[in-house]
Amino acid sequence: MVKSEGVRKSYGLVEVLKGIDLEVKQSEVFCLVGPSGSGKSTFLRCINHLEKINGGRLWVDGEMVGYRQRGDKLYELKDREVALKRRDIGMVFQRFNLFPHMTAVENVMEAPVQVKRESRAEAKERSMALLERVGLADKSGSFPSQLSGGQQQRVAIARALAMKPKLMLFDEPTSALDPELVGEVLDVMRGLAEEGMTMIVVTHEMGFAREVGDALVFMDGGVVVESGTPREVLSNPQHERTRAFLSKVL
Ligand code: ADP
Ligand code: MG
Repeated sequence: MVKSEGVRKSYGLVEVLKGIDLEVKQSEVFCLVGPSGSGKSTFLRCINHLEKINGGRLWVDGEMVGYRQRGDKLYELKDREVALKRRDIGMVFQRFNLFPHMTAVENVMEAPVQVKRESRAEAKERSMALLERVGLADKSGSFPSQLSGGQQQRVAIARALAMKPKLMLFDEPTSALDPELVGEVLDVMRGLAEEGMTMIVVTHEMGFAREVGDALVFMDGGVVVESGTPREVLSNPQHERTRAFLSKVL
C-alpha cells in the first residue's frame, strides 16, 4: 500500500528525512515511533501530498506520489490530480481540527457533499452510520465545543472515513487527550484495524502498538534506526537509541 525508497525531505538547508526505506502492506497496522523532531509528521505529510519530497521514490497503492510515470519519464502531477489522490487518504491529527460552527454530523458529511458532490441525504445517512461506528450516534447534533476531546477525535476519525479512504494516517491521535479519554479513541482504531483498514500510526502508546500493530519502525534523526514486529522491537531493541527512547515511553 505504501512503499518508500530512499525518501529525502529538506526544509531549506536542513535535511529532515535522510533516506527513508519502508514498506506498508495492505491491511497492516504500521506503527511509527521516535523522539520529537525525528521526522515522523513530515513523513506522513509526504505520503499525503502535503510536502514534496526532494529525493527517493514514494508510492501509495502502486502509484507514485506527486508524479506520473510514462515509460522511463516522470511527469509532475497537476494540482487537480494531486487533489484527487488525496481523497483516498484519510488523516487524523493530534489536534482534531473540527469545524467549530458545524455539528458532529455536519462535520462528517462536509467533504462527501462538497468534494464528492454526494447528495446531502445520502451523505447524512452514511455520516450517521459512521458516527454510530465510532460510538457517537447520540452526539450527531452536538457542536465540537460540547464534546470531550476523545469524542471530538472520534468525530475526526469518522470524518476521515467518510471519504472511504484506502489508507488512514494517524499523527499522534491521542497525545492531546486527557489520559482517561485515550482508551476510547484507541478502541475505535482497534476496530478499524480489525476491519482490515491499512493504517500508519504515529504514537507513543506502546501498549496499542504491541497489541494491534503488525509492524513497528523506530525513527530518529530522519532515518529508520530499526524495524520489525512490535514485539521484536519493543522486547528486544537492537540499538542504543531505541533503548533510550523506549525507556522514556514504556
Ligand atoms: P516529529 O513529527 O517526529 O516530531 P517533524 O516531522 O514534525 O518531527 O519535524 C522534523 C524536523 O523538521 C524538526 O526539526 C522540525 O523543526 C522540522 N520541520 C518540520 N516542519 C518544518 C517546516 N515547515 N519548516 C521548517 N522545518 C520544519
Ligand atoms: Mg509530529
